[in-house]
Amino acid sequence: MNSVIYMDNNATTMVAPEVVETMAPYLSQYYGNPSSMHTFGDKVGKAVAVARQRVADLIGAGVDELIFTSCGTESDSTAILSAVQSNPEKRHIITTRVEHPAVKNLAENLTSLTGHKYRVTQLAVDSQGMLDIDEYKNSFADDTAIVSVMWANNETGVIFPIKEMASIAKERGVLFHTDAVQAVGKIPIDLSTLSIDYLSLSGHKLHAPKGIGVLYIKKGSPFAPFLIGGHQEHGRRGGTENTASIIGLGKACELAAKSMVDENSRVKVLRDKLEEGLLKSVSNSMLNGHPDQRLPNTCNISFEYVEGEAILLHLDTFNICASSGSACTSGSLEPSHVLRAMGVPFTAAHGSIRFSLSIYNTEEEVDFVLGKLPPVIANLRAMSPFWHDRQEA
Ligand code: PLP
Repeated sequence: MNSVIYMDNNATTMVAPEVVETMAPYLSQYYGNPSSMHTFGDKVGKAVAVARQRVADLIGAGVDELIFTSCGTESDSTAILSAVQSNPEKRHIITTRVEHPAVKNLAENLTSLTGHKYRVTQLAVDSQGMLDIDEYKNSFADDTAIVSVMWANNETGVIFPIKEMASIAKERGVLFHTDAVQAVGKIPIDLSTLSIDYLSLSGHKLHAPKGIGVLYIKKGSPFAPFLIGGHQEHGRRGGTENTASIIGLGKACELAAKSMVDENSRVKVLRDKLEEGLLKSVSNSMLNGHPDQRLPNTCNISFEYVEGEAILLHLDTFNICASSGSACTSGSLEPSHVLRAMGVPFTAAHGSIRFSLSIYNTEEEVDFVLGKLPPVIANLRAMSPFWHDRQEA
């Protein structure tokens, strides 16, 4: 068994050994600038072109529809600000209450920083984290500039009906962006068949390094650069390319295309075993998110009447890595905005844990977690006044 049982892959992933191997020469002997005229630089340029093709193949895009960025956050900002800048007379943005801060905070800042010139509609979700399509259809205004809806939620793994939502936006003549940072590499995506104008992805969620992202811009969709500078990326993103990471991302995309079947079968079987085992062996536990419309690797479970952070600290003593749905901010444990939007009761939201698996997890690791976690919960509950009050009620 691995010394660290890593089940926090929605936070970040291990860089695949094949990716490290592919990148290594471009960190040492092939350090040329891809824009240089000499053969030495051109060699790197050619490797970047191969990587671009591999990314394009994974998501059904054209190579000229992709720009490399520094991360998912930059891709999200570029897409949304691009749409807004290209349509200055349009002042309305549609998004959801459960977006990653990369979209949520950007949209909110756009409103506050412009003295409320912009309006943001944040679509609600139900208790399973799903959107109401009628509410979405009714949310469009004459001045809607862009819809930005994540493909899959980072906390619950819930998958939104992006194909349908993108075509509804197209019918209304509104630009559509999806933050697919958690979806790419885990579920099949074929942009050639979809009405999506912009898509964001991030390398470190699919076994490539941190600090490399991609923005897809559909051919013909309006675009204004976010980083203005040199001619790189055909003038769409200034800055010398992060060549080794781009080449690593290309390899990761090639591997993801091959491992997708495994992700959807073997990883899902492991995830389901973990989920069913925990829900069965721990009373007052429940799944957060839709049972089926979900990424194959993610499960988010609430253990009532215990603090998620206390659970994580105990798991950490066994070298088990997971995440909690609450963050300790200003001395108080605030449940995540995603769980709050889903209406998860306070006592459950506080004790939520996200497990996010990868192709590198094994059944032995799942069994290990199934052996360790139930007694941790029992011990924490034995010390919890809320649990005792509940038992006595
Ligand atoms: N969007 C989603 C859904 C994410 O999960 C994340 C990272 O957790 C991001 C955007 C931001 O990506 P990056 O860390 O590459 O900026």
